[in-house]
Amino acid sequence: MSLRTKFMLALLLTGLAAVAMVGGLAYAGMTKKVDGMRRERAAEHFHESVTAYLAQYGSWEANHGKEGFDAFMQSRRPSAGDRPPPPADDRERPPPPPGEGRPEHRGEPPYHFILADQDYRVLLGAGVYKHGELLSEAARKDARAVEVHGRVVAYVSPEGVITPSRQELQYLAAMRDALWFGVSGAAVLALVLGVLLSRGLGRTLGHLTGAVRAMHGGSLLQRVPVEGKDEVAELAAAFNAMSEKLARTHEELSESHQTILAQAEQMRELSVRDALTKLHNRRHFDEQACTLFSHAVRHKRPLSVVIGDIDFFKKINDQFSHATGDTVLRQVGEILRSHMRLSDLVARYGGEEFVIAFPETELPQAAALCDKLRAMIEAFPWHQVHPELKVTMSMGVYADLAAGTAEAMLQKADALLYRAKETGRNRVCFAG
Ligand code: GH3
Ligand code: MG
Ligand code: MG
Repeated sequence: MSLRTKFMLALLLTGLAAVAMVGGLAYAGMTKKVDGMRRERAAEHFHESVTAYLAQYGSWEANHGKEGFDAFMQSRRPSAGDRPPPPADDRERPPPPPGEGRPEHRGEPPYHFILADQDYRVLLGAGVYKHGELLSEAARKDARAVEVHGRVVAYVSPEGVITPSRQELQYLAAMRDALWFGVSGAAVLALVLGVLLSRGLGRTLGHLTGAVRAMHGGSLLQRVPVEGKDEVAELAAAFNAMSEKLARTHEELSESHQTILAQAEQMRELSVRDALTKLHNRRHFDEQACTLFSHAVRHKRPLSVVIGDIDFFKKINDQFSHATGDTVLRQVGEILRSHMRLSDLVARYGGEEFVIAFPETELPQAAALCDKLRAMIEAFPWHQVHPELKVTMSMGVYADLAAGTAEAMLQKADALLYRAKETGRNRVCFAG
C-alpha cells in the first residue's frame, strides 16, 4: 500500500471516528434530553390536574356523575388562542384516551399515567390496570404522591414510552442530516488533506530513493532538494551532508589507495632493481631466467646467456677512487641497457659483474652482439671521466639448453668468462 493511500486512510478513519463520536454522543444526549423534558412536562401537567381535581372535589369518587377527570383536564388546558395550533397530524388524529399520551409508536407501548389512591388501588388504569387493582411494586417505585392540604391522597405513576412530537422529530432529523454532512465533510477533508500532505512527503522520498539508488550505483555525491523546515526537510539536508561527506571520504580514500599502489609499485621496482646502475638485480634475473629457460625448452626456441666482468676493476677503484669506480659501473650498465631489445634481460649480478639473457637468439648472434658491446665499452670516451681511465670487459656466452637449467647455463658462461680472463681479457669466449 502506498504512503499516500495510508495517509488518506489514517486521516479518513480519524475524521470519521471523531465526527461519529461527537455527533453520535450529541444525538443520543439530545434525544434523551428531549424525552426527559417531555416526560417531565407531561407528568407535571397530569400531576397538577390531579391535584387540582382532588382539591376541588375532595375525592375521586365524590365527583362521579358530575365533571369527568378528562373534561376537567381539558378545561385546564390553555385556550386555543393562547397556544400554537397543533401539527397537522395531531389535528387529524382522534384525541388520546383519558390519562394517556400519544398513540403507540413503532411498536412501543404508549405513554400514559396510572392514577392510584393512597393505598395504591388503581383509580384510572389506562387500559393497563383494572379499576381497583393494586399497583405493581415496580410502578409504585416511580409513583409520585399527590398531596392535598399536606396529605397524600393519591399516586400518579407513568407507564409506557413517550413519542416525540413532529417538531421534535424534525429537530432530530435535522441533527441526523447535520451528522451525515459532518461525516461527508470529514471524509472529503481527509482525502484532500491526505493528497496534499502525502504529495510533499512522497516527492522528497522519491528524490531520496533515487539518490540512494544512484549512490548504490557508484555516484556517491548526490543532492536532493530541501523544501521547508520540517523533519522531512531535515532528513533531506542530513542526507545531502552525508552524501557529501561520503563522496569526500571516498575521494580521499581513492587518492590514498592510489598513493599506496604507487608506493607498492615503487617498492616492488626497488626490490628488483640495483640502486647504483638502475639495472635489474640478481634476484630478478634468476627468477626471469628460469621462466625464459622453461619457455625456450617447451617451445624448442634458442636462448643465450652471458656473463661479463669488468677487467682490473679493483685497480680502477684503487687508482682513481671508489667514486670513479661507481661512475664506470653506471656507464657500463647504461651501454648494456641501451643496446638491449625489450625482450632481452640484463642485470647487475654483483660487484662489477653483469649478466644478460637473449631469448630467441642463437649462439653466433649472441656472441657477435656481445663482441659489439665489448667494443663499445672499450671505445667509450672514458678519458672524460678521468684522463688516464681505460675500461674493458671480458665475457662468456653459452647457448646450449642441454645444460638443464638457467643456473647451469650461467655456470657454463662463467667458465667461459674465466677462460676469457685467462686468455688475455677484453674478449668474448662462447660455446654451446
Ligand atoms: P679481474 O680483471 O680479474 O676481474 O680483476 P678485478 O680487479 O676486476 O677483480 P676483483 O674481483 O679482484 O675486484 C673486483 C672489485 O670490484 C673489488 C671491489 O672492491 C670492487 N667493487 C665491487 N663492488 C663495487 C661497487 O659497487 N663500487 C665500486 N667502486 N667498486 C666495487
Ligand atoms: Mg669480478
Ligand atoms: Mg673484474
